[in-house]
Amino acid sequence: MIPIKLVGIGAKADKIDKPGTVADPTLADPRSPAASALQYLQPGGLQLTALPPLSLYIHFPWCVRKCPYCDFNSHEAKGELPEQAYLDAVRLDLEQTLPLIWGRKIYTVFIGGGTPSLLSARGLDQLLSMVRTLLPLDIDAEITMEANPGTFEAEKFKSYRASGVNRLSIGIQSFNAGHLQALGRIHDDGEARRAVEIAAANFDNFNLDLMYALPTQTLEQARQDLATALSYRPPHLSLYHLTMEPNTVFAKYPPVLPDDDASADMQDMIAATMAAHGYGHYEVSAFAQPGRRARHNLNYWEFGDYLGIGAGAHSKLSFPHRIIRQARFKQPESYMRAAQAGNPVQEEFEIARADMGFEFALNTLRLTEGFSPNLFGERTGMGINAIEAPLNAAEARGLLYRDHKIIRPTELGLRFLNDLQQMFLGT
Ligand code: SF4
Repeated sequence: MIPIKLVGIGAKADKIDKPGTVADPTLADPRSPAASALQYLQPGGLQLTALPPLSLYIHFPWCVRKCPYCDFNSHEAKGELPEQAYLDAVRLDLEQTLPLIWGRKIYTVFIGGGTPSLLSARGLDQLLSMVRTLLPLDIDAEITMEANPGTFEAEKFKSYRASGVNRLSIGIQSFNAGHLQALGRIHDDGEARRAVEIAAANFDNFNLDLMYALPTQTLEQARQDLATALSYRPPHLSLYHLTMEPNTVFAKYPPVLPDDDASADMQDMIAATMAAHGYGHYEVSAFAQPGRRARHNLNYWEFGDYLGIGAGAHSKLSFPHRIIRQARFKQPESYMRAAQAGNPVQEEFEIARADMGFEFALNTLRLTEGFSPNLFGERTGMGINAIEAPLNAAEARGLLYRDHKIIRPTELGLRFLNDLQQMFLGT
């Protein structure tokens, strides 16, 4: 599965208002971290006039088997999973973190992994009840869960919907038996099709993850995979180029991959096919029918806030004069012990002013519609002049388009996104 490969403004995203402005009760309450953050009024501190929308990410760190291309925090399940112990740790984690998000509403929830569909129906129900009890969930909250075809069972699946999950993201990767095998996936092409049928029967909102540029894949095979996916009319499709990540089996034993020209042809085919089928290409790898953009991911890409709980989960949380990042212990056992001991956070730091422009660009320039100059100010607490130099340089190189309302990558900028993002380093 693909958690944070980390979409424009969909109809639903437009409804996201701004929780926790500096004038609101969040700050009036002296116990709130936002209020205590006022103590950080050192010169050079940020000036956030409003806090961004807040999302919740919950990580489930186990899979049936580790895929050879995967660099996510996923661990092969050996024997029975300590499901209840893990859910208890997640609850403790959330309870201990609550003071950091005092009074803020949650607009989206994402249960990712790993393979969260390994959770029992009862376990998921317990998890979502816990979230509803401890957090103010927006009435219209998008609640997404990742699922793998190999762990699919219609009954369990229906119960996920009954527990409150309203969006499913299925790690199909391919409908081709040979390519699924080459990717080390535990599901076959029949299970992939059955999974999508069950998803479509139970969820009106779902995403399919597909990969291309797979070992020995031809353009025609990539076209067939896409045609099969589109035949189910998924509201959202994420199309990822297979990449060789360090510390994976594929990095050590690289398979034969299509060359750069062949994968560029696949990319062109995907763009043309998706446009012809009415899908908007709103982020590097994400395509959606109108009104179906992934609100959770969109919040990442718009440099919104997220609280990540569970093993190895990351958080980004804003306060009026600083923005912090946190990472939880990665190994499930260490995480559970640390949560019991009262500190599941392994690392926490404040984003330095000098890194803010790059961090913002790293996310927002993934969006085909880019960002407005106002958004930069709202999310970073800094003036747009802080990134004037790289903006001018990128514009001069044809990587960026800008006017008074919008700053977005050009087609060339999207193609050389790494180069474009790197230009913001140190701003
Ligand atoms: S199913 Fe495979 S790709 Fe997805 S998280 Fe597990 S190991 Fe990684």
